[in-house]
Amino acid sequence: MASSPLTASALPCHLQALLEAGVRRRELGYRGRFAPSPTGALHRGNLRTALLSWLHARLRGGQWLLRIDDLDTPRNRSGAEAAILADLRWLGLTWDGEVLRQSERRGLYGTALSALRRQGLLYPCRCSRRLLADVSAPHGALAVYPGFCRDRGGGWGPEQGRLPSWRLRLAAGALRWPEAYAPPGALDAEAAIGDVVLRRADGFLAYHLATAVDELSLGISDVVRGDDLWSATGAQVAVMAALGAAPPSYGHVPLWRDAEGRRLSKREGAEGLDGYRQRGLDAAAVLGELAASAALVPPGSRLSAAELLQELSPGRLDRALRALQP
Ligand code: GLU
Repeated sequence: MASSPLTASALPCHLQALLEAGVRRRELGYRGRFAPSPTGALHRGNLRTALLSWLHARLRGGQWLLRIDDLDTPRNRSGAEAAILADLRWLGLTWDGEVLRQSERRGLYGTALSALRRQGLLYPCRCSRRLLADVSAPHGALAVYPGFCRDRGGGWGPEQGRLPSWRLRLAAGALRWPEAYAPPGALDAEAAIGDVVLRRADGFLAYHLATAVDELSLGISDVVRGDDLWSATGAQVAVMAALGAAPPSYGHVPLWRDAEGRRLSKREGAEGLDGYRQRGLDAAAVLGELAASAALVPPGSRLSAAELLQELSPGRLDRALRALQP
């Protein structure tokens, strides 16, 4: 494992062994993943990102895992996971092994959280959302936590009936990661990221914690995902560093936007496979349209996922994804 603020003996043995096995695993060969949240059916933008991630893995002879990010239970929609699986199968985007669910891995994230807390890397934060909204820039969410509770001290128990959230204390300096397509992976911990919440005040484990533990323990070597997550990578790399490991390689790919340049959203009912099917398109036509939108094949192409693999090479995919960058 890479150098870290934790010594090997600071992590519980089973967590240490799991993380080390994961890091060894990624050195053995490519292992990618697709990690949708089950908040609704995949729209064509999500489907294109899934296709690009799958192609990136399969063109390199790699594995591709499917992980369902279902920790934020109030946002989960019933039937969404089944719809996601059915859509990926219909398109021929096959995954390796069992479907992984973050909701079934809570014990692992909890162990990592306790280890970080025992090391003094976490602190309780009592700032309410309202307070943070009041001190944030006039428009838009607070980008970086100003560190109000960093040196406040106090216990971890309830105060005025409220539990604290738990934040990871970030060391000053740049957080870096290997980045294939988007701008080079580097963000300043203090100016751009701030102390990351790993456990929310309502008890929910944070996505950054779960994702960082998963990328490491599952031996993920390459993460290809939407570029809306580029800046979230800094927070995830910070958690990985606290756990003593270097990040995988990332390839952030542009989101598919509508004619006005707005990102597609599940909530606003962006078209998914049902829409395509209602228009009478079969899987070959849909794959052709998804691939053509990334300039991988000429418009109007019809081909299966296996045929698309035959058409492309890793270099050709890389060139197309670089050309797609805004
Ligand atoms: N589940 C999250 C999403 O769908 C994160 C995905 C990821 O890390 O690739 O936006």
